[in-house]
Amino acid sequence: MLRTVFSALLLLVFTHSAEAWNGVGHRIIAEMVWRGLTKAERREASELLKQHPHYKLILTADVPRGVDKDEWAFLTAAVWPDMVRPKRSGGSDEISKYDLYPHAIGYPFMRPAETNHALIEHFFIKRPDAEMVLSNSFTTLRNRDASPRDRAVSLCWVLHLCGDLHQPLHGANLVTEKRPRGDDLGGHHMVIDGHGRMVNMHSFWDSLPGVDGAYGYIAAQAKQISGDRKLKDATRKEFEQDKTIASWVQESFRLAVGFSYSGGNLPFAHESDVKAGKVAHEQIPKLSPIYISEAHGIARRRLLLAAERELVVLKQVW
Ligand SMILES: [Zn+2]
Repeated sequence: MLRTVFSALLLLVFTHSAEAWNGVGHRIIAEMVWRGLTKAERREASELLKQHPHYKLILTADVPRGVDKDEWAFLTAAVWPDMVRPKRSGGSDEISKYDLYPHAIGYPFMRPAETNHALIEHFFIKRPDAEMVLSNSFTTLRNRDASPRDRAVSLCWVLHLCGDLHQPLHGANLVTEKRPRGDDLGGHHMVIDGHGRMVNMHSFWDSLPGVDGAYGYIAAQAKQISGDRKLKDATRKEFEQDKTIASWVQESFRLAVGFSYSGGNLPFAHESDVKAGKVAHEQIPKLSPIYISEAHGIARRRLLLAAERELVVLKQVW
């Protein structure tokens, strides 16, 4: 019996696959953006979202009591590309037909000890990649001749991908001799988090913004992050220097390699070894409290930068 429960738990942990900042993270970014828009800009964004094919079905399906409908639709628009994935939507074609694009662009990196550089040279990234999709979505959103429906869908992709590409693990893929195609952006690298739970690295980084989806938490986080002077100072240089989508992803790549993976030296257990029983639960490496606290700091910086950059783009639209 116990064994069955443990297996079920394991399955739960393993099936939580890569989805980028969780819904909470995306909504926190969108809430910061919403606060930065003027009333007139908010009205434009809200009118546009009414043209979205899933305005009723998804964007305004569960507006929390007491929360402004337009604002909630905007926050949900930022999560929508994750909500149309077949595993979430229950497989309905009407919903999942919009699940078209990648949410990450994992540039390859190797551990210093790895010597086969051909693995990097021959690494293949499928097109269109997430940078292209974000760039095209900007273009469609700005294009007043495009259909309102396409522009509304593009607004969702802009809000979502800009967030995703600021999640460090969305910019890097660990390449080894054994796994030359990369390793699912950390989705199979098992560690123990600060609560003693086994998580994969990707999920750990996705969940850093928190797991409380209540509007009150989202609004409080948005207010705190956007009002944090020190945080603003810490991100100013990147904000001023890096003005292209490619450079935002390179920031993520450098953070993922340099910090998240500690230059390739961060210990983890591979999911396949855990599943095969080659690594016992007690042998799975623990993330240190210092690592966890620094990771939280990095996540806050990335959320702020994503929001500031989205604001710049949206202000060119309306
Ligand atoms: Zn995503």
